[in-house]
Amino acid sequence: MDFDAMFNAQLDDLKQEGNYRVFAELERRCGAYPRAKSHDDLTPDEVTVWCSNDYLGMGQHQDVRDAMKAAVDSCGAGAGGTRNISGTNHHHVRLEAELADLHRKEAALLFTSGYVSNWAALSTLGSRIPDAVILSDALNHASMIEGIRHSRARKVIWKHNDPEDLDRKLAVLPANAPKIVAFESVYSMDGDISPMAEIVEVAEKHGAMTYLDEVHAVGLYGPRGGGVSEREGLADRITLIEGTLGKAYGCVGGYITGSAALCDFIRSFASGFIFTTALPPAVAAAALTSVRHLKTSQVERQAQRRQVARLRAKLDAQGIPHMDNPSHIIPVMIKDPVKCRMLSDILMRDWGIYVQPINYPTVPKGTERLRFTPSPLHSDADIDRLVEALTVLWKQCALAHAVA
Ligand SMILES: *Cc1c(COP(=O)(O)O)cnc(C)c1O
Repeated sequence: MDFDAMFNAQLDDLKQEGNYRVFAELERRCGAYPRAKSHDDLTPDEVTVWCSNDYLGMGQHQDVRDAMKAAVDSCGAGAGGTRNISGTNHHHVRLEAELADLHRKEAALLFTSGYVSNWAALSTLGSRIPDAVILSDALNHASMIEGIRHSRARKVIWKHNDPEDLDRKLAVLPANAPKIVAFESVYSMDGDISPMAEIVEVAEKHGAMTYLDEVHAVGLYGPRGGGVSEREGLADRITLIEGTLGKAYGCVGGYITGSAALCDFIRSFASGFIFTTALPPAVAAAALTSVRHLKTSQVERQAQRRQVARLRAKLDAQGIPHMDNPSHIIPVMIKDPVKCRMLSDILMRDWGIYVQPINYPTVPKGTERLRFTPSPLHSDADIDRLVEALTVLWKQCALAHAVA
């Protein structure tokens, strides 16, 4: 068997479809975000990153860096083991307390990433709760889908952000079956936000547990950065809130929060928690500083909102169509994988503007897009330059304009 020939054949198919992923090799310039040095000869040396999930630039925050350096100097580079075998560091325990407080829950549990936290928590709940049925929003993230699949629990998919469909699907299940409603707050591809109060109400009506992924909302929404559930005053009615330390908090790692019993249950049974080396203590120390900072500081959130509104208004003024949504994510629809890739390449090469094309399977075919995430660190001049570039390219590529 010629395995490489087989691999290459499938890769060629991806390339033909325009869905082959090419990574931009960058070095983020600490202290100068959103600038990064580009290691591609065909692009300018310095580029402006327009698609980072470090939404508030916390990765370069002085206090966060100081905390990380201090912990490296006091504890060293790695955790030294799994949480069970010598790897539980004081910094992990402090961070878990901070996260529990962030969502006003009894307990929290850290994972090596948000992906792992979803995968491990959902697979454990689905497999360990006898006869569990998991009701999953149709657009849930891959990490939730994989966790549910791995649990082998019965899965029911409900229409995206549709509490009435959820209600109907819950109603036909056996009354005594344990039910878990899994959904997100901010959906990162369309930037839409779930109707959380209605979903919680429907779940409560049927006695279902609620599992909420707040990955794209923590740090950004709510007066303390506790996410949409905090902003809406719903956190105490949600059974499990999951989040990441890798996006608005600018570090890496994932977590769940909930009751003490729930977190102890996952801690005790989740393979994806137990059998892997704990996060470096320095990462935990840095994340703790970032979470704490964003609990009290509104400056970053306010500045981000201003720049998001500014980019939207400028796009509108030029008739460049973007998806209307109530979040900080601005998808500009291209609806063609090859054009999407091409626009991204031209922006990078001719303008030093980096925005990764979002193609299938991340989004459905025919909905390919460029997805912009303005941060407090993007200046007004950065925004003007981006809109200028898009305006020029729109004319060159004969792309459709929004009807005013
Ligand atoms: C990015 C993402 C995750 C995974 O978080 P990581 O910390 O990056 O592993 C989980 N859920 C959603 C909705 C995401 O977008």
